[in-house]
Amino acid sequence: MFTFSKFDRLCIGIILICVVYGLYLNSLASENIDSNYTFFVFKAYRLIWDWLFQYFNFPLIYLWILAFIAWLGYLFFLYFQRQKSVSAVLIKLTLGIGIHLAFFYLFWGFNYLRTPLVVRLELDGQITNEQIKIEAWRVTEKICSLRNEITLFNEELLTPNIWIQPLHQSTSMVFKKWNIGNFPSAKVHLLKPHGSLLIFGAAGFYWPLSGQGHVDMGLHPLQWPFTYAHELSHAMGWTDEGECNFIAYLACIQSDSPWVKYSAELMYYRYLMAAVKRIFPDEYIILKEQLSPEIAKDLSEINYALNRFPELFPRFREWFYDAYLRMNRVNEGIYSYSNLVKWIILYSAKDIK
Ligand SMILES: [Zn+2]
Repeated sequence: MFTFSKFDRLCIGIILICVVYGLYLNSLASENIDSNYTFFVFKAYRLIWDWLFQYFNFPLIYLWILAFIAWLGYLFFLYFQRQKSVSAVLIKLTLGIGIHLAFFYLFWGFNYLRTPLVVRLELDGQITNEQIKIEAWRVTEKICSLRNEITLFNEELLTPNIWIQPLHQSTSMVFKKWNIGNFPSAKVHLLKPHGSLLIFGAAGFYWPLSGQGHVDMGLHPLQWPFTYAHELSHAMGWTDEGECNFIAYLACIQSDSPWVKYSAELMYYRYLMAAVKRIFPDEYIILKEQLSPEIAKDLSEINYALNRFPELFPRFREWFYDAYLRMNRVNEGIYSYSNLVKWIILYSAKDIK
């Protein structure tokens, strides 16, 4: 007969707390989640966790992976050496998965219940095709002038310590401005080996169980600052993918570094041109001709880096991630990334007024 150890009981207790707390949060209106979760439990977690690991410059996810492998090994050991029954091992396995889910939601995932930025900033309007065309011309000019400012190739970019701290400050300014919580000491790591995330179809990701964000170093360095700011936004308690792109864009363009600004504008340019190509195919060709050879080279190198690592199980990943987002009330699933152009146009129009 299976008996629960003290540790098992502790796990059950934490899972139950998470379920009850989750049911309570789900019963609240989204505008009450900030005060009942983000500025309370999530804030306490963020402050303690970031203080504990402030001098630890090693991605904690490596330790989590080791612990996870050791735990699986322990389950095998229980089954084969200690002759535990299948049901006893399955109970341990279920508890292990349960405690992971509980930590995932307690220390980050309940942020999915917050009021979206698009509602807070009233960005749910419509834009016209003409506005997209005007914006494409503006951004094309912008990246041309930024690229002219950059003379020393990559030196600043390849020394992340130069741009990381200012990027934390500018991301924090965006969070402060909208009063959506501000935890600038959250950590994001540039992750090696190169391609370790790209093979799963991700440029970066935030892992709530290690409390840190990650950016794949296999990306072209021009994509590092923007992706870094995106992951930092997740670490600071924002969940929506498209909205994290929006925050990252605003944080990067406020930076003093032309490289960081260029990184964001180039990323925005790629989204924008995908829309222009669909709506105005002729204009798309004319716009492309405006780019200097340096910018054209940057763009093709970015694409090369993105495609350098073959993706494993792309269909499964897409299905799984889409299902995950929808389960967490992101109704647009993986398409939640693509509203960026609309939001930037609407937000700039508001900001100017
Ligand atoms: Zn993300």
